Amino acid sequence: MPLFKTVNVLDVPFINATEADFLTVLKERISGHQNTFVVTANPEIVMYAQTHPEYLSLLQQADFVTPDGIGIIKGAEMLHTPLPERITGYDTMTHLLQWGNAQHKSVYMVGAKPEVIADVADQLAVQFPNLTVLGIHDGYFNDFAPIAADIRDKQPDMVFLAVGFPKQEQLIDQYRQASNGLWMGVGGSFDVLGQHVKRAPEFFQKHHLEWFYRLVTNPSRLKRMMVLPKYLLEVRKHRH
Ligand code: UDP
Repeated sequence: MPLFKTVNVLDVPFINATEADFLTVLKERISGHQNTFVVTANPEIVMYAQTHPEYLSLLQQADFVTPDGIGIIKGAEMLHTPLPERITGYDTMTHLLQWGNAQHKSVYMVGAKPEVIADVADQLAVQFPNLTVLGIHDGYFNDFAPIAADIRDKQPDMVFLAVGFPKQEQLIDQYRQASNGLWMGVGGSFDVLGQHVKRAPEFFQKHHLEWFYRLVTNPSRLKRMMVLPKYLLEVRKHRH
């Protein structure tokens, strides 16, 4: 199994791979029932890891960390170790759902608000009718242990956890041995899949302005985005 070389951005090891090569490896591992932990990390996650060593070591123990966000691509470029392209959580998840539908794979989905996850269930049935949905829960649970026990019973091919960072990665790290398949944190992706939030139009994605679209359509993200300039300054400090 070819594992990818990595590029460190502030100690977080990103895979140096194209999206296509990454997806190929991921699908082989899912079909082979290999336990696989994927993190799609953006600058916010990298900066959080700077001040939370336990979270950083958890990222370092994941099987694959992908560059989710143009800030990571820019950072790697500034460090003279460029990465080929963004690999986002949303795109990876939708590709795997399509593939899983064609291959009759099974999924387990946990995350988002109750009304959102209900719409996710409807969308899965309409868009991916051959996918077996083994479990579906909203993300506002008090205790993940019973959900993990259910995952252990059902052994899904893929588990998608959409409760936001750092919680989703912490839960995956703690419970991933329950089932030998894919475990991936997908942040706000269920909001898009359930059609409660619109993905940025292609124009914004193509011109690396997805962050701008999300900011304009949801100004409360501004506070979260203030971390970006700090991140770029931090990367600059590490440049040689
Ligand atoms: N969420 C959840 N449980 C919680 C807190 C958050 O299920 O206890 C969900 C929230 O409803 C949203 C997602 O986690 O669907 C986080 O989305 P966000 O936009 O913050 O993630 P991003 O994609 O920006 O990382």
